[in-house]
Amino acid sequence: MAKPEKTGKKDRKTKDKSGKKAARVAAKRQDVMVIGGTRRGAFTGQPKVLIAGAGVGGLTLALMLHKRGIASVIYEQASAILPVGAGINVLPHAIRELAELDLLPVLDSVGIRTTELFYMNRTGQIVWREPRGIAAGFEVPQYSIHRGRLQKALYDVAVDRLGPDAVKTGRRLAGFIQDDGGVTAYVVDAIDGSGSETVRAEVLIGADGIHSAVRTHFYPDQGLPRWNGVQMWRGTADFPTFLDGASMIIAGGMGAKFVLYPIAPGEAPGTRLTNWVVNVKVSDTPHPPGKESWSRRGRLDEMLPFAKRFEVPGFDLVSLIKSTEAFYEYPMCDRDPLPRWTFGRVSLLGDAAHPMYPVGSNGAGQAILDARMLADRLARAEHPYQALIEYEADRLPKTAEIVALNRKGGPERVIDEVEKLAPAGFTDVDRVLSHDERRAIVRGYAGKAGFTLQQVNKKAG
Ligand SMILES: Cc1cc2nc3c(=O)[nH]c(=O)nc-3n(C[C@H](O)[C@H](O)[C@H](O)COP(=O)(O)OP(=O)(O)OC[C@H]3O[C@@H](n4cnc5c(N)ncnc54)[C@H](O)[C@@H]3O)c2cc1C
Repeated sequence: MAKPEKTGKKDRKTKDKSGKKAARVAAKRQDVMVIGGTRRGAFTGQPKVLIAGAGVGGLTLALMLHKRGIASVIYEQASAILPVGAGINVLPHAIRELAELDLLPVLDSVGIRTTELFYMNRTGQIVWREPRGIAAGFEVPQYSIHRGRLQKALYDVAVDRLGPDAVKTGRRLAGFIQDDGGVTAYVVDAIDGSGSETVRAEVLIGADGIHSAVRTHFYPDQGLPRWNGVQMWRGTADFPTFLDGASMIIAGGMGAKFVLYPIAPGEAPGTRLTNWVVNVKVSDTPHPPGKESWSRRGRLDEMLPFAKRFEVPGFDLVSLIKSTEAFYEYPMCDRDPLPRWTFGRVSLLGDAAHPMYPVGSNGAGQAILDARMLADRLARAEHPYQALIEYEADRLPKTAEIVALNRKGGPERVIDEVEKLAPAGFTDVDRVLSHDERRAIVRGYAGKAGFTLQQVNKKAG
């Protein structure tokens, strides 16, 4: 924990006042009363932040806290951090934060710097194209990257910088209570619930994903995640390089979509490990299938007829899918934005706080932005209550807006709008929807999500 800044008497008085005020507000908003006042220095010494979940959000938070001299420990229910999963894109607004942690060399070793994005209709006609990352003038790249490799890379760096005990795997957060002085968490063996352990910390952050136990503790009646009826099939396979070997293609709208991008060099020369996603609306019920079918192995006979609906000129989608050893299916789910994330010394981060539809490449990125804001607030605050409330005040409205925009398709709505007006395709897209109108949809989303050139480069400068 960074030492409190030295201030003059007057400043100190002002700070004391605002610290006390924030703590009073927090005390009113939480379930336990603050006993013994809110004196300055309540959050000094060596505060420990307990993080539930070693996903992209939890690991990034631990690294950012470490950089600010704040000790943390992560409890992760998975028995090991393995590079499993499929691809994601991490945009420059989040990469700027990872670059500040000196992670660009690590990212270069596991991902591909994305150069260009194509939005197409289902028959492969280009609706919008734009350069991405460095090619678009950003000071930091955009990466197409295997989510599991990113998570494993962050884990390795965390263990290297924070020490071998920084991430405790195979341990599930089973419950917690809080009082004036801290949070007491109960952690158990993730498989059989044995080996109950009590961990004391000053702050608990639930970075435990869309099925968050911390969130459920505060919102026991929230019910299941909300499903838009779209089933997603995701896989990766080595495949001959297409375009420049670093471009991404998104074809089709919210009802049926195909996503394609390389995430690493392939095993054989001239190939790339290629990530693909097929999204198809298969149901009208808002209730997702049971948790057991959340990353169930997909079946080729079930999925291939959907994939055959798409055409990308010069690319053999069916061969790519057939050459994929195993692919998995997930329902496209989110949750309604919450009225609050923070309850005294406990708050939420990443998918636990704001699960969103995976459009616009923002889920992991927003978790990284959460981590930055939270680490800054914890480093500066008079008291954890104040830090967590300020963090929520900044991040909750921004992410709630993105959740809402993603329900309408995010930037990819530009494809839906063109498809609506020209369902059978077009000869000149400008005559269907003008360049300015298409630009407004794509760039409008970027502005709300914080990744325009001006927003990212200004902050980096
Ligand atoms: C198809 C698809 C495509 C996507 N594409 C993109 C993209 O292009 N760009 C992007 O930025 N995002 C994308 N995302 C979203 C992104 O993957 C998530 O938003 C991001 O990984 C969330 O990170 P997180 O750390 O909050 O949660 P998670 O990654 O879910 O991590 C939560 C961790 O908590 C652990 N955990 C859960 N409960 C407990 C407990 N009780 N105790 C201890 N540990 C626990 C879990 O095992 C897990 O490791 C995509 C998602 C999907 C499904």
